[in-house]
Amino acid sequence: MNKEFSADQAVKQMLPFAKKAGVETVWDRFEKQQPQCGFGTLGICCRICWQGPCRIDPFGEGPSKGVCGADADTIVARNLIRGIAGGTAAHSDHGKHIALTLLEISEKKAEGYQIKDEAKLRSVADKLGLPQEGRDLYEVAGAVAEATLEDFFRKDESIHCSWFDKTLPKERVEKLEKLGVVPGNINGSIAEIMARTHIGTDADPVNLLLGGIKCALADYVGMALATDLSDAIFGTPTPVKTRANLGVIKEAAVNIAVHGHNPLLSELVCDLAAELNEEAIKAGAKDGINVVGVCCTGNEVMMRRGIPLATNFLSQELAVVTGALDAMVVDVQCIMPSLAAVKDCFHTELITTMPTCKISGATHVEFSTETAKESAGKIVKLAIEAYKRRNPAKVNLSDITQTAYAGFSTEAIVAALSAVDPNDPLKPLLDNIVNGNIRGVVLFAGCNNPNVVQDHAFTAIARELAAKNVLMLATGCGAGAFAKAGLMTPEATEAYAGDTLKAVLTAIGEAAGLSGPLPLILHMGSCVDNTRAVAVATALANKIGVDLDKLPVAASAPECMSEKAMAIGTWAVSLGLPTHLGVVPQILGSELVTKVLTEGVKDLTGGYFFVETEPKAAAAKLLGAIETRRAGLGI
Ligand code: SF4
Ligand code: SF4
Repeated sequence: MNKEFSADQAVKQMLPFAKKAGVETVWDRFEKQQPQCGFGTLGICCRICWQGPCRIDPFGEGPSKGVCGADADTIVARNLIRGIAGGTAAHSDHGKHIALTLLEISEKKAEGYQIKDEAKLRSVADKLGLPQEGRDLYEVAGAVAEATLEDFFRKDESIHCSWFDKTLPKERVEKLEKLGVVPGNINGSIAEIMARTHIGTDADPVNLLLGGIKCALADYVGMALATDLSDAIFGTPTPVKTRANLGVIKEAAVNIAVHGHNPLLSELVCDLAAELNEEAIKAGAKDGINVVGVCCTGNEVMMRRGIPLATNFLSQELAVVTGALDAMVVDVQCIMPSLAAVKDCFHTELITTMPTCKISGATHVEFSTETAKESAGKIVKLAIEAYKRRNPAKVNLSDITQTAYAGFSTEAIVAALSAVDPNDPLKPLLDNIVNGNIRGVVLFAGCNNPNVVQDHAFTAIARELAAKNVLMLATGCGAGAFAKAGLMTPEATEAYAGDTLKAVLTAIGEAAGLSGPLPLILHMGSCVDNTRAVAVATALANKIGVDLDKLPVAASAPECMSEKAMAIGTWAVSLGLPTHLGVVPQILGSELVTKVLTEGVKDLTGGYFFVETEPKAAAAKLLGAIETRRAGLGI
């Protein structure tokens, strides 16, 4: 294997085992797809109706319009915003599931669930302006759930989503209201995209893109509520030390991977794994049950419980290739269908759990909030049975893991800062941004993508920015990349941070009792948790009385891949952030759409996209964007 597919040492170690076992990996399939279709790459093919598929000739020699007359600009814009709607649907379905669970908890119908963080629930109630006097915890939970669900189903869509107005700076809300892009109802915003992109409807590319912005802002709403209500139910994360990479899969344990996005099931799998630990030991696994995480379900349980992270999106198949994974339990999103074929080469039980996410060849254990405990118990028992079938001759354990610190929720960051200044927690952060010890903040988000070397750009950009004293936050598979590379540690701060950043992280870390610096990159959670970073930025913006687009804050998605990443990137730009993409988006077939998203949108929201596939250049551009913002603030 000459070509480098991944910067992850465990992946490099495991790929030859995959080959030997006859396992086709994502990289094999990616190679077989080459060359990928140029029309699709440019976004100029349309399959919206059965007069098509239609394709526009990018060289201007063939057709310039589809059968219905749609041109490249309309086709590209429609394709893009349908992607945004897909991402919004995925996030908000997750959020709705959490809100409905909170409602069931309030009605005492969801056995196995409770409100673990009463203070968080009460602060959400305050944020939403819900009265609490004379209401017990369950009544408050019911009121929060009802008010949240109203954001999905509100009849009068001229009324803003509550989670939008109550979580963003006033200036931002007013700016977006003037553009007519504030969502009043999440479901309606998704449906509107599908309706306006139907054949023969909206054919104005700029109007289509504004529709995409509105839907992306509905995505922000769905994510914000999913994160905060998950915190209320499962606990708000606090800093926790754990480990990451495939070496967390142990030989002498029943290994269960939880994979996907939604913490509703994985939390109970962790509970039941503890309850049934003795059964695993009796079955011969002297280390009992070892739950590990994959992708964003992995990030959820890593943040709240310190469960080790086995790997991120692109290398999920390799967790099975270790030959020691007894069960891969999946919920929704980013689960490769190929897992069914990979597990056939080993003893691993692949268990689907959601009615909307089945994979043929997998064992399906239906999950519902009423029967969650029972389902989780059944799943753990299936894993123990699978362990008994494990073939030692097929075990290829990795010895590669790194220490990783996770659990940096907004509240945890504020708590660490409070240790420096209990009366004004944001002041130390703000002062250090103003005096230049911290030049700015970059949020790394997004996925893995085989179009680039796995994890490489994340880590390369981060090292550059660290040296230039940029504070870094991360979520999703980006956070997974950093955790696996050992960059979420105090040691990484010592090794890579510039002098002033190191001094600030050390002062905060020591004041917070960590006896050393904060980690170089702060793990803020799964991809749905990007709104935690917005909460920090909003608090800073409110404190100094400016809008988000004035802050020296930027976002970077070096390996963006999923429709959810399209939605997140679009709301980041809509909230005013310069947003880096390390993969070329499928929009270049329209000069107009490309110009609007990289230049024109700046006049509307203050944010913009820029594309840079070379990590050093990307770091320089992120830094340039931060310095421009600093100059604007006169600091
Ligand atoms: S909507 Fe228009 S461009 Fe798209 S497939 Fe139908 S005819 Fe072709
Ligand atoms: S960050 Fe992207 S690839 Fe990773 S789990 Fe989330 S959506 Fe999937």
